[in-house]
Amino acid sequence: MEPVVEGLASNISQAYHALKEVNCVEDVYDVIDFISDETRNSYKHIVCKVGCSDCCKGLHPPYITAAEWEYILYYLNDLPKVVQDEIIRRARWYAQEYRDALLLQQDLIDGKMQSQQEIDQAYKTLSKAMADATCPFLVIDRCGIYPVRPAKCRAHGNYLVKVNEKVRVHTCLPQVSEWESYIDNQEGNRGITLPLWNVYEQVIGILNPPNTLVASMPIWLITHIKGNTISTELDSNPYIAI
Ligand code: SF4
Repeated sequence: MEPVVEGLASNISQAYHALKEVNCVEDVYDVIDFISDETRNSYKHIVCKVGCSDCCKGLHPPYITAAEWEYILYYLNDLPKVVQDEIIRRARWYAQEYRDALLLQQDLIDGKMQSQQEIDQAYKTLSKAMADATCPFLVIDRCGIYPVRPAKCRAHGNYLVKVNEKVRVHTCLPQVSEWESYIDNQEGNRGITLPLWNVYEQVIGILNPPNTLVASMPIWLITHIKGNTISTELDSNPYIAI
């Protein structure tokens, strides 16, 4: 095994053990940040380019759990009122513009599509409908909630490359072909060369009470706006006109 891979493997194994001890979302994020940095140091070809915000645009606004949303919500509530007003305006615009796509995406998240054909068709529709979408938290190509951004955003993008049944890696769409060719060239150590996305996901799932909602971030946002304020209460029938 090459020394660089060896070093990463030991860091991944350290991170794996650390994940067994976590008891809140912030702890999981610390592990993700650590191992994502280590992975980028080992595989320079996946380092984010300065000023690039490609993974915040297009098809997939990140879908997140209640525990992750709660963490973001506290942060939003501490922002100055003028910033909150802008977030509310953006959230309403987004929900109005992409209403049907968001509902379709939620059906996918909830597992309502029965056949592979339905799933493929839904993704086709979503890629078209959301081609020009940008995350409502993206401000001048920078993340407006960077310190509390969700796990998927920390793990280098929102596009999932499935390596095998057990190993998946999040990346951004422009990097997928580079990952694919990198993975093709690996011999015998594919599993350990990738970040622990599947484990993060399980741990975040465990930190959420059973049967709690998983939804895309714009849905969490729009359902936590009451009048002109960001609310800690969920409103299942939000006002979306701007
Ligand atoms: S939360 Fe931040 S990093 Fe994640 S998609 Fe939105 S703007 Fe990008």
